[in-house]
Amino acid sequence: MSLFTDRAESAFKKGHRHLFLPLPYTIFVLTMKNFRIGHGYDVHRLAEGLPLRLGGISIEHEKGCVAHSDGDVLIHALCDALLGAVALGDIGLHFPDTSDEFRGIDSLILLERTMQLVRKAGYTPVNVDCTLALQRPKVRPYIDSMRQKLATAMGIDVNCISIKATTTEHLGFEGREEGVAAWAVALVTANDKP
Ligand code: MG
Repeated sequence: MSLFTDRAESAFKKGHRHLFLPLPYTIFVLTMKNFRIGHGYDVHRLAEGLPLRLGGISIEHEKGCVAHSDGDVLIHALCDALLGAVALGDIGLHFPDTSDEFRGIDSLILLERTMQLVRKAGYTPVNVDCTLALQRPKVRPYIDSMRQKLATAMGIDVNCISIKATTTEHLGFEGREEGVAAWAVALVTANDKP
């Protein structure tokens, strides 16, 4: 004898497993379906005499990032996290460093264009968390300005944007001041259907 009614068995076969869970779990499962997460990582080499741009802010320093764009490693990691959340590839796919269109481009423009892709895919960012690794200079005084820049470019509240910075205790390429690394994670949620 079947444990299910015909209707329940049909729903189970269609994969609607949540119909068989207690209500709190059902709400959890249905809610979780609306969230996706992405991760991004980027590195740029540092060289003497170049402008240093991080989080959309120009920072006073004797070295800057070598890049086709403005070399904003933090924004590049963030764009990859956002693209990752909606499974749309990476920044190199959409904004190739072989294209003259992106030569020296302000990475805030790349972030705005990434956001257009995310929204077109039907998602809105919930929050992002970024970490910069560099030995010098200290970026703490710039972090709130960076957060504001990113919030404006992304069209979300500044409280949804976290930026942290760390040295690597003189270890590795960041510690030798040969380069800067950045990581980012982004949570997005599906837009409400009209
Ligand atoms: Mg990059």
